Amino acid sequence: MSDPGGRPAEVLAHAEAARGFMPADEGRALFDHAGTVGQHGPDGPWLEVGSYCGKSACYLGAAAEAAGRQLFALDHHRGSDENQAGWEHHEPDLVDPVTGRMDTLPIFRRTIHDAGLEGTVVALVGDSPSVAAVWRTPLALLFIDGGHGTEPAHRDYEGWVPHLAVDGLLLIHDVFPDPADGGRPPFEIWTRAVDSGAFTEVDAVGSLRVLRRNAAGI
Ligand code: SAH
Ligand code: MG
Repeated sequence: MSDPGGRPAEVLAHAEAARGFMPADEGRALFDHAGTVGQHGPDGPWLEVGSYCGKSACYLGAAAEAAGRQLFALDHHRGSDENQAGWEHHEPDLVDPVTGRMDTLPIFRRTIHDAGLEGTVVALVGDSPSVAAVWRTPLALLFIDGGHGTEPAHRDYEGWVPHLAVDGLLLIHDVFPDPADGGRPPFEIWTRAVDSGAFTEVDAVGSLRVLRRNAAGI
């Protein structure tokens, strides 16, 4: 895709510089597909599950701002299992010395501020299934990148996919068909979506999978 230039390019530079787990080519694919939904997709806000320090929220936020949409960025900011001490993706400076628990909210907030996205990205601080249970607004875009264990991933799928509007985009991160490359649950929920018959496969970039809803129900 061509270089967007202007304000989106400025936000994309912040996205690339931000801390987190989103390779540049996959982030750029997030931006491009979100931009398409912003122009041609159904009405409704966008939501990401799993924001961490705000990196993917900047990629999606760049497209949301350009399209005049809102992005809800949902995270309890306490880290997934794989972010806790002793696990592969632990970053010790993200532990709050007072509580002894991980806290990515201050960095998320600074990232969104510095990218100029405070008018576009709305932080939802809480537990994903609890928020999903009371959510009522149909979503035009859903990005799932929260807890990658079996239970968290399947609960995100079951809790959020019913809120995705027909013609809306479902994006799932860390989908690894080969178990040697990474954990299974994101691949399992991608398989559920494909097997449901309610989605059309749109794209795959690295571990990012992009699906469009073609029918209601999961
Ligand atoms: N998208 C991010 C990476 C997300 S890492 C990026 O671009 O860098 C996964 C995130 O999911 C962590 O920040 C963790 O706190 C969050 N998470 C895990 N389980 C959750 C739950 N049940 N509710 C809310 N957030 C959760
Ligand atoms: Mg991820």
